[in-house]
Amino acid sequence: MTTISFLGAAGVVSGSRHLLTAGRRKVLVDCGLFQGEKRLRDRNWAPFPVRAETIDAIVLTHGHIDHSGFLPRLVREGFSGAIWTTAATADLLGLLLYDSAKCQSEDAEYANRKGYSRHQPALPLYEERDVQRTLRLLRTMPRLEWFTPTEGVRCRFHDAGHMLGSSFVETEVAAADERAPLRIVFSGDIGRFSAPLYHDPVPPPPCDYLLLESTYGDRDHPSSRPLDELEGVVKEAIARGGVLLVASFAVGRAQQLVYLLRTLMAAGRVPDVPIWVDSPMAVDAMEVFRRHGQEHDFTEAQAEGVITSLVSPFVRLSRTAAESKSINDHRGPGIVIASSGMMNGGRILHHLARRLPDPRTTVLVAGFQAAGTRGRTLLDGAKELRIHGRDVPVAAAVRRIDALSGHADRRELDRWLGALPAPRRTFLVHGEPAAARGMAEMLRTSRGWATHVPTLGETVELET
Ligand SMILES: [Zn+2]
Repeated sequence: MTTISFLGAAGVVSGSRHLLTAGRRKVLVDCGLFQGEKRLRDRNWAPFPVRAETIDAIVLTHGHIDHSGFLPRLVREGFSGAIWTTAATADLLGLLLYDSAKCQSEDAEYANRKGYSRHQPALPLYEERDVQRTLRLLRTMPRLEWFTPTEGVRCRFHDAGHMLGSSFVETEVAAADERAPLRIVFSGDIGRFSAPLYHDPVPPPPCDYLLLESTYGDRDHPSSRPLDELEGVVKEAIARGGVLLVASFAVGRAQQLVYLLRTLMAAGRVPDVPIWVDSPMAVDAMEVFRRHGQEHDFTEAQAEGVITSLVSPFVRLSRTAAESKSINDHRGPGIVIASSGMMNGGRILHHLARRLPDPRTTVLVAGFQAAGTRGRTLLDGAKELRIHGRDVPVAAAVRRIDALSGHADRRELDRWLGALPAPRRTFLVHGEPAAARGMAEMLRTSRGWATHVPTLGETVELET
């Protein structure tokens, strides 16, 4: 008997964990952390539904923490099999999981200081040494090459165009008799078409069952091009005469921004001004991106007739605190990319505290802003922002770019599916309830597909 258990990303966009059970064999596809509201984060502390040591292998679609951030915990609980992924994802995990461990420790320390934890003392979900053990289990595979995570199951990766190294997984479960194998596609996260730096997602192969992400299953993104939107913001910021502060996620978004900014400058569409990447993790990620340069798609630069690279004398990488502080002395136009993306921590706060009161400053919000974050507060037009215990007046201009979303919208998911023959059943995962239902409804009405929106913990038997 073959089953899939939906152990996460069911009705939510985090905690991706899909357990494929084929006879006595178990393969977990993605092993993500639940993120966001407390009720979701609390799920990270619930006992894992199957014993960690009974899982034979893990197959990982990409490095984002909502797909990978539970790995060190599962290792701590006794998982010791191989973790299969692409080489670029493996390199990014070396940054993202250590950063996650640091956040876990900080959360625990904070809880201890405030005394609000149920555990006394509060413990981190995992620590650095768990990350070290996790990284030792990684096995990397190039895309399109079959591998066998466990007896009777084979998989291969295809480019999902969502971030560096990201893939969807084609899986075949061998039948016990002469029949054809059972084919399952796990979409992971599917990227946008024409996303800066990333190739378009390649079409999925025919399959019996499809697990499809549905983050934007009920919505379409605006059709503007990121390069054009960014040009407008940079020109305006330079005209104001001050610094453009860009709040960005350190891995992925920051590198896309550097690439787009350098393209605009190389093409002469905006003046050459210094760009600082002010985040140790973003600087490390630049190195990983450079190492995997063959994965990049430079369509925007080619269309502008210029050659861009992530390395340039105009891009200053700021790793140490002293390097970061020296940016404070800069007057006149310049661009500072710093994390965190939602302004809930990181070096961006120091820059905001210093430059928000200056009317020559422009703040660019380049990603989704959750309710309650400083990024959202600024976008909502706050006149003051609380930073490091004091209220900082806001005289800076605040701008946003929506075109840089990492996820395909409804139209793009439909385009990705293309002429795919109807799977026997399609499961909508990784979406809020309305988004997952919206996508299910569209597939039912426009394609006549059989769909299902699984609930958390549900196990479905796959007919062979
Ligand atoms: Zn992702």
